[in-house]
Amino acid sequence: MRNAWLSFAVALAVGVAQLAAGAEEPAPTGYTDTPLLPGSRWRVHDGDRPHPQVVAPGTFSSDEQPGKPPSDAIVLFDGKTLDAWQTEKGGPARWKVENGYMEVLAGSGDIFTKKKFSDYQLHVEFREPAPAAGHSQERGNSGVFLAGLYEVQVLDGYDNITYADGQVSALYGQAPPLVNAARPPGHWQTYDIIFTTPRFTGGKLSKPGYVTVLLNGVLTQNHKELLGPTVHHALPTWVAHDPDMPVKLQDHSMPVRFRNIWIRPLPQNTN
Ligand code: MG
Repeated sequence: MRNAWLSFAVALAVGVAQLAAGAEEPAPTGYTDTPLLPGSRWRVHDGDRPHPQVVAPGTFSSDEQPGKPPSDAIVLFDGKTLDAWQTEKGGPARWKVENGYMEVLAGSGDIFTKKKFSDYQLHVEFREPAPAAGHSQERGNSGVFLAGLYEVQVLDGYDNITYADGQVSALYGQAPPLVNAARPPGHWQTYDIIFTTPRFTGGKLSKPGYVTVLLNGVLTQNHKELLGPTVHHALPTWVAHDPDMPVKLQDHSMPVRFRNIWIRPLPQNTN
């Protein structure tokens, strides 16, 4: 018995010592004698370069269950309320909310985030009405408008022929998706969008805007340069706007559902 107590005491002492050692500052890493990276104030392997923030990744979604957002995401829709959304004029968003999703209420208008964002990663899930009804642009049409102006098309793209730059995951009227990665209607689909908003100086475009899109995990737009705000049946022309703008979801009078919407504003240049 006495030996058992002794072993316990020794183990405890070792544990405390290890804890104390763990609390010490880690040994310095990196180099001070390496060349400066071009256009940067940091050297190759610079030990003083700030470490990226730690983010706990989320989980993937299934038809039955939305995934969890990453730990640093701003949740824009958690399946319960439209508190983060409003109409164009600032009134309450009136889309239907039930069973963990929102659904376009035809005629109630587009909805906009109350918060504004410039460059970001945006996650949106949508579900096309089943059984499918209508053809071409009249089948499950909605849209995710970046900066409230640049549409990533939402449409039933499964076995539904329409013009290429109007199908699901197109930058509407500007760029068809690289591939058609649509799932059948009635299944939840995911958009992961990376957006760099265009910048304007003196009312003129000074830096282009770019859009990258993954539809259901498949790359469909690869750092595509925007041509201007989305228009129908015409060429876009630039309209200057602030970097910070809302995200808009489109009421195209069809009962498309959305769930699990979150956004991660991107850090600015870390050169
Ligand atoms: Mg649309």
